[in-house]
Amino acid sequence: MITESSKTVILRKAIWDIQSHDDGNGGKQTIIKPIPETWFNIRSLMPNLLALFCCPNCQIITGADTRVSKVDHLGKLTPRFHCIPCGFHGDIYFDEYHNKPLYALALINNKKKEIELHYTHADNQVNASKGIDLKLFSVIGIGRAIGYNVDDKQGKQLSV
Ligand SMILES: [Zn+2]
Repeated sequence: MITESSKTVILRKAIWDIQSHDDGNGGKQTIIKPIPETWFNIRSLMPNLLALFCCPNCQIITGADTRVSKVDHLGKLTPRFHCIPCGFHGDIYFDEYHNKPLYALALINNKKKEIELHYTHADNQVNASKGIDLKLFSVIGIGRAIGYNVDDKQGKQLSV
């Protein structure tokens, strides 16, 4: 279980339309039709890529390369994603990367008297709550973590 950082984006797993055609010059042309706000498991086609996804800001297609990136046990991409064309940077999570859905837990830290968001993988909502130390935290809500955390002028806003 981890605590969210300021810019956290959770991408749903999806199957993208990827087609290869003869380019007319003896080569192949690959056409990728991405689905924004999702990631695609391309390892069977390109083993050096952990995932394909779109930048949450500019939607450019990005491949997480095994030579420079890793995906941890929660599906979090490391190092932190930085989009060179648009400058966006933030934490990216791939939902169901390890075949279990990611849950968000909204908790009150009883010591700090602050609301915190935590994430964990679980088969269902009940199992997602099993790691919570109820002496340290009070539960506000638990649900599937799909969507964006964005910072706006009024503060942090969660859209799902
Ligand atoms: Zn971008």
